[in-house]
Amino acid sequence: MARSIKLILLGAPGAGKGTQAEIISEKYGIPAISTGAIIREAIKNGTDMGKSAKQYTDAGALVPDEVVIGIIKDRLSDSDCANGFILDGFPRTVPQAQALENMGVEITDVISIEVPDEKILIRMSGRRVCKKCGATYHTEYKPSPAGEYCVCGEKLTVRSDDDPKVVAQRLATYHETTEPLKAFYAEKGLLKTVEGQEKLEDTTALTAKALEG
Ligand code: AMP
Repeated sequence: MARSIKLILLGAPGAGKGTQAEIISEKYGIPAISTGAIIREAIKNGTDMGKSAKQYTDAGALVPDEVVIGIIKDRLSDSDCANGFILDGFPRTVPQAQALENMGVEITDVISIEVPDEKILIRMSGRRVCKKCGATYHTEYKPSPAGEYCVCGEKLTVRSDDDPKVVAQRLATYHETTEPLKAFYAEKGLLKTVEGQEKLEDTTALTAKALEG
């Protein structure tokens, strides 16, 4: 039987974690869990959590640890996570990583997708999302077959926190608060690094090698 994969994808916002998470999810039949997507959905639905999270996401800042830890605790208790999962965007702080350990979650793999800040800034400007079905595209690297529209028919939009000023803040937050997680997981012998490539499929091949090799 194939081994159970409990994978954390690390990397700056816009490094391609979400896209790789979707690909790995399909390949292994395990859920890809994005705290960012869960938060955006809560904001869209106007829930209490969404209302309090919005001020942070709009500023390119992190939502408080206790909020995202609660989100992950709930989600990981769902039955579809029993045979493995991919975490995209969690943990983002050392206390979040410690909380995951305290929940008794045994992570099997951590892959950091590395992309220089200059490239991230260019990439983020082309990012498009579908507000209706949540699909993500890129004008250059992963264009929608329906042009300005999603395959579901909805007009594509730019995420509000993909504004260049907010992106710069999100990158600063990443380097300061999330990057230390590389040392945290390297010490446990779990960290593998992948250089994000120009072509999506090249990054996919390197990520697959990191996971299987
Ligand atoms: P993402 O789609 O992963 O880039 O997340 C979008 C935004 O949601 C981030 O800029 C944060 O404001 C918030 N967020 C997502 N995941 C976390 C997390 N693990 N810790 C704190 N804030 C988060």
